[in-house]
Amino acid sequence: LQVSNLKKSFPYGKGAGAGQVRAVDGVSFTVQEGETLGIVGESGCGKSTVGRLVLRLLDLTEGQIRFGGREIGCMSQRELRPLRRQMQCVFQDPYASLNPRLTVGQTVAEPLIVQDKLSRSAAMARAEQLLDLVGLGAGAASLYPHEFSGGQRQRIAIARAIALQPRLIVADEPVSALDVSIQAQIVNLMRDLQEQTKISYLFISHNLSVVSHISDRVAVMYLGRIVELASRDDLFLRPRHPYTKALLTSVPEPDVERPRERILLRGEVPSAANPPSGCPFHPRCPAAEVRCSIETPAFRETAPGHFAACHFAETIESAPLSVS
Ligand code: SF4
Ligand code: MG
Repeated sequence: LQVSNLKKSFPYGKGAGAGQVRAVDGVSFTVQEGETLGIVGESGCGKSTVGRLVLRLLDLTEGQIRFGGREIGCMSQRELRPLRRQMQCVFQDPYASLNPRLTVGQTVAEPLIVQDKLSRSAAMARAEQLLDLVGLGAGAASLYPHEFSGGQRQRIAIARAIALQPRLIVADEPVSALDVSIQAQIVNLMRDLQEQTKISYLFISHNLSVVSHISDRVAVMYLGRIVELASRDDLFLRPRHPYTKALLTSVPEPDVERPRERILLRGEVPSAANPPSGCPFHPRCPAAEVRCSIETPAFRETAPGHFAACHFAETIESAPLSVS
């Protein structure tokens, strides 16, 4: 998957008060075969919109989306139909996405019947295999969604998502509704499936520690833009954007003797309808200088494979950020 300069605006208001919100404002990234790219950010930063744009559940305002070597950003829904099977999604609430009146076997078998034209009995046999693969056992096929726990229901959603052997799964907060003890099991299941199938994941979450467990590379979003993108280790150990640094100090570190000093950001996330001048992060940034309110920092490669949108990325890495 190769996304370039992706933009999405939504209209808001009426008459003189009308305007455009730039929910996604020039986002670029790639996801390789067998790779997981994590997208992390606070609610409203545009990460879910990116996921929906990639799946073409929303039309883009501008930009390119290349998938498997083809430009899909401009395709009609009709042209997209044969490609749909290669891109699947898993969402936060597995209960809302499962039909309560179908057995889970029927739910998992449905795409095999509709898209793969399998016979009902062949599709049900395959559904049982898939339910077994995600750790539920073939016997799960004859039960209904309400008979399962939240974590089990997310396993069912994953079984359905992989039924057509997609090349990419967009997972939007797939473990956020689950108990912490269950989250790791679902993340581990997704990792195991990736090892077996070389599937790619775009893994969207507000939770940095969840993202760190599954991602090869991580993109941090703020106000519709990616502010930092790097390998997981570079991002977590050597962050180069003050926003990433601040986010990281909010992740508890149970193993370290002396917890990091928490960087508290002042103020609220500004409205995307009226973003700040210059660097969109400057009103909240502990490292901001005069230049930051005037000049928008480019999203640039500051070290091999390590991108950041900050004028001072190179010095931020080593500088302790004072709490102001
Ligand atoms: Fe902070 Fe300035 Fe860097 Fe923006 S460009 S993140 S305001 S230091
Ligand atoms: Mg969201």
